Amino acid sequence: MYRRNIRHILIPLAAGLALVIGYNLFLRPVLPPHMVRLTETVEPVAPPPAPPQGRWPESEAKSVRVLDQSVVPSTPHEGLLEAIRDEIEKHNLSLAETKLKDLPPAVLSDAKSKPFVATLWNNLGLQQERLNGTQVSTKAYKRAADLDDSNPVILMNLAHAYWEQRDRALNAEFLMKLMKVAPEEPFPHLAMADLLHEQDELQEAVKHLDQAADRARQDPGLQSYLTAVTAKVRRIQSVESRMTARSSTHFVVKFDGEEDQGTWISVLEILEEAYREIGQKFGHFPSKPIMVVLHAKDSFQGATGSPAWADGLYDPALGRIQIPTQGATTDRKWLASVLRHEYVHALLHDRLGASSGALPTWLNEGLAMQLAGDAWPELDQAMSGDITVIPLTYLEGSWVALPAGASTVAYLEANSATHYLIERWGMARVDELLNALQAKSSVAAALENKLFVSYEQFHRQWLESFERSRS
Ligand SMILES: [Zn+2]
Repeated sequence: MYRRNIRHILIPLAAGLALVIGYNLFLRPVLPPHMVRLTETVEPVAPPPAPPQGRWPESEAKSVRVLDQSVVPSTPHEGLLEAIRDEIEKHNLSLAETKLKDLPPAVLSDAKSKPFVATLWNNLGLQQERLNGTQVSTKAYKRAADLDDSNPVILMNLAHAYWEQRDRALNAEFLMKLMKVAPEEPFPHLAMADLLHEQDELQEAVKHLDQAADRARQDPGLQSYLTAVTAKVRRIQSVESRMTARSSTHFVVKFDGEEDQGTWISVLEILEEAYREIGQKFGHFPSKPIMVVLHAKDSFQGATGSPAWADGLYDPALGRIQIPTQGATTDRKWLASVLRHEYVHALLHDRLGASSGALPTWLNEGLAMQLAGDAWPELDQAMSGDITVIPLTYLEGSWVALPAGASTVAYLEANSATHYLIERWGMARVDELLNALQAKSSVAAALENKLFVSYEQFHRQWLESFERSRS
């Protein structure tokens, strides 16, 4: 289906190939081994509906998150609490925080004041979140929940923050409590399902997905997402139930029973090496073991719903890297390239948590290429050919709408622009850029605030260096 001769640089992609963020599939070219190339493209089949805001229920935005703080309980501490409330209302957030922290123990032990102090912490958290994201607000919600753990609004706000931050405190115990306090919410069940399929308890995960769907009737977007994920989990469960799993320190690798040990050992070696090397370069290590599923070629399609030509993918919804292998005949060099590239996507997903959708595709792919150290011979070739530059702003979202043939250029630009970014500003600043994107900054605002360069300037300067490197 996808035959490429190295001399034909910009062969149009077969019609109908679609590119969807997150669904990263490799094409295996018909090339001699030494010319092994990685062209990643994405399944032409309809993708499941996009997770609403990183799978945080959309309805959440409409639900009540702020608590009424207008009536200060009449206690001897009334004046003190009123003053703090006023600071919050005047947006003097750090002053309000200091005053809340300095409250005398007598206030916190007073039964009437205590829930009100929790309300103040909650509302302070919301304001902090609007300014600086959940990275900052989590602490305030945590304080609020410590004072009043029966308030569904507070616990939902805390859960939301934990979720966004990929905080391990969003554990089964916390979620069970949340289900009790907020029984009508789909979210705790969704988060529980997430934990369970992470622990590979797929059957239990499906139960919670069903419960989440029951509670999401008011939210068609969320419900269709849940239906798609549930179908996928069921499919994966049926395929993976006959697989064998082996764990190393940082990975769980599953493979078909008849899969040969040699490939499995190679895979773990490649992955552990990627873990160390890429982790050091990038300054981030995954917060939990990453699941890698090696499929026999014929089961891969059925299990992942991907087309015949696809050679691998990272599925962010299920947190799995999926690779088809052909046992001992699998080319190790190719395997290493695919695994390393997909590992970076998994790592970025872990790094950005629920906000990973905020990462522009050109940066996501660029970082995968730069950090994995992909060798893409055809990109070097394409460098010397005719290129119609696609503005990076067109390469931020899904690459579905790219005209045929533009995909090579897209990867070329993503790789080059990210290389320029790292060369000029260094990885530490790139990391700050990721923080800003995680806190929901636009790409333009993130560049402006973290690199002190407008998107336009960045684009122009990168293009100049790109053209220089081509001449
Ligand atoms: Zn990729």
